Amino acid sequence: MECKRDENLLECTCSATTCKNRGMCCECVRHHREAGEIPGCFFPKSAEIKHNRSIKYFIEVMSKNKDL
Ligand code: SF4
Repeated sequence: MECKRDENLLECTCSATTCKNRGMCCECVRHHREAGEIPGCFFPKSAEIKHNRSIKYFIEVMSKNKDL
């Protein structure tokens, strides 16, 4: 399967623009899963910018999200 990094970069909402995993969703997911975290693109923009990728923070943010 062909890598879609260039295509993924067009839609990546992560603000960590210097991250080596940016645009490589498989590596991004693996990195955060191994750290017990969730990738930045799962967070609303206002929370993503804080770079706290913990599951605890994700649940906290999403439980307060009125758009769900
Ligand atoms: S979510 Fe994490 S691994 Fe993925 S691009 Fe952002 S900083 Fe890198």
